[in-house]
Amino acid sequence: MASRLVRSHPSASLRLARKAWQLLHMDSARSVTLARDALAGALRGGDPQGEAWARLAIGYHLLYFGTPADAAQELRAAQSLCTELADCAGRILAGAGLARCLFREGRYAESLELVLPLRDEGLRVLQHEQRGVLLNTIAGSYSAQGRSEQAFAYMYQALRDSGPTHGRGFDAVLYCNLAHELLQLGDYHEALRYLDQGIARCHGLVNPRLLAVLLINRVICLTELDRAQEALLDVLRVRNLPANESGRGEMSSHFETLAIAALRAGELELGRELVERAWAAPRATVPDEHVELAIASALLAGQRSQWAEALQQLDRVLGLVGAEDADAAEGLSLRVRCQYFLLRSELQEQQCDAAAALATMRIWQQLHVARAHLASRARYQAAALQTELLRLQQKLDEQAAQRRATERARAELEAINQQLSRKIEEVQSLQEALRNQAVRDALTGLFNRRYLNESLPAAFALARRDGEPLALAVIDFDHFKDTNDRFGHTVGDTVLESFGRLLAANCRESDVACRYGGEEFCLLMPHTNAQVARRKVNALLRLWRNQTFELQGGTLAGLTFSAGIADTRQAPQSAHDLLRRADEQLLAAKHSGRGRVLVLGSSEDQAA
Ligand code: GH3
Ligand code: MG
Ligand code: MG
Repeated sequence: MASRLVRSHPSASLRLARKAWQLLHMDSARSVTLARDALAGALRGGDPQGEAWARLAIGYHLLYFGTPADAAQELRAAQSLCTELADCAGRILAGAGLARCLFREGRYAESLELVLPLRDEGLRVLQHEQRGVLLNTIAGSYSAQGRSEQAFAYMYQALRDSGPTHGRGFDAVLYCNLAHELLQLGDYHEALRYLDQGIARCHGLVNPRLLAVLLINRVICLTELDRAQEALLDVLRVRNLPANESGRGEMSSHFETLAIAALRAGELELGRELVERAWAAPRATVPDEHVELAIASALLAGQRSQWAEALQQLDRVLGLVGAEDADAAEGLSLRVRCQYFLLRSELQEQQCDAAAALATMRIWQQLHVARAHLASRARYQAAALQTELLRLQQKLDEQAAQRRATERARAELEAINQQLSRKIEEVQSLQEALRNQAVRDALTGLFNRRYLNESLPAAFALARRDGEPLALAVIDFDHFKDTNDRFGHTVGDTVLESFGRLLAANCRESDVACRYGGEEFCLLMPHTNAQVARRKVNALLRLWRNQTFELQGGTLAGLTFSAGIADTRQAPQSAHDLLRRADEQLLAAKHSGRGRVLVLGSSEDQAA
């Protein structure tokens, strides 16, 4: 399907969708407006890549503002489009988003199983905040399983990739998540530091939901530090944010958390209102939220000294918290478990059940120790894991650098090779030219005297060995001085050139035609006896006589030459002898009137 191919230039819809992605954390409302526009445009224009990225941005938006099911629907569509389009970055991000959906549904192990296989490719393909998004998803899945050290390592790495300059607001998300991880381990002061950083960063963003989550985490820290009074302002700020896309969204109100703070601060009315709103709020299956709601409800009952009612509220979620030796629900944090047992113990004491209160206190103590242990292990192992991630990153960087260096070297080698072969070609043609210059006559293009002198002995020896005749004709223009005198030396040259062409055109390939000097020519004819050679040279003489030259000073026509011929049968002794005898015949031809071809031993001289 041609229409499904990735376009080389981003379409308008794709540009819009990418912009929506970039604004995801910086301006959540504008981001989703752009993403919806992009989706509409992409669907109208049949643009699958634009559609993929629009759905990706909408899917991530819904992760924060909608239900996991709604988000998953968009992300699955984005994932299959990106797979078809071989858009690796989009595919990985969609996968990470789907893992995040599972996380939001409390399916932490499945979430990790889905996102971990994307890690190595993601580190190769993604950059900056996109990389941060992937690493943060991995971190979240580890965090929910109580594997804080892994969570920390991935979050720190994510923060490195999505620092304030490249983070597009995602850095604020990471401050928030890091703080959350720290507070789960009881490191409230360090958590507050990150939260303040995140909240400060939010001043540059238009993302009330993110601000709300940061504030809620600050409320938790302050409450846990017994400074709930200080948290009241944040509680009111979050409560007053509208529960829609332009505010904190519908899903993550965390009224129960706010209620606990208000009740701990002694604000009964506010606490009651928040508990009521917490009960009414839509809720995903996040165990912490359920237990915190029970705690808030118990606190509210406790404020009215309704101890039995308060304990009943806590009993309701005992299955989630895991009494005594029972396991807690997957994803339930140690922090909330601690909080639960501490309150339970307080309530049991209020009911004057000292034994039960003490037993509960022991559970709390055990959990507290476990939490402290986890915290110290997490700090230590996070550092080790981060080193490993850094090493992985360094390896990737090195590989990339090596690849670039290899490509550069290959390109250089290629250039050198091309230069070299050009040079070789030049040298070859130069050599060819030099060879030709050495054996060719420049004016006529025929072989020169030197060549004849070199090849004649060899041709002579060959003829003798094969028992085949070899004929040699020596040709000399008649009265050529007159031509020069009448028409000038240049015309003389033209005439010589012209004869060269005639000779070359009427020779066999095995014949050797050469300019012997001045207006004298030699024709060496292998496998030819003197009689046959004479016929041939006579034919040449006829052609030459018929040639006319139209010149400024008149017409030049009827040119003749004289020629003497000998063959190896007549002169078997040596090449030199052959030449001498042919020369003698030429001289005889001149003496007997010119314009003729004479052969040694032939009585009949034939005038052409
Ligand atoms: P003959 O019939 O007795 O051979 O008379 P000829 O005038 O041809 O006399 P000869 O062979 O002794 O003289 C050769 C002349 O050819 C002398 C010279 O002017 C001319 N000649 C030799 N080489 C060249 C050349 O390269 N270019 C031109 N234009 N003339 C040449
Ligand atoms: Mg001459
Ligand atoms: Mg002459």
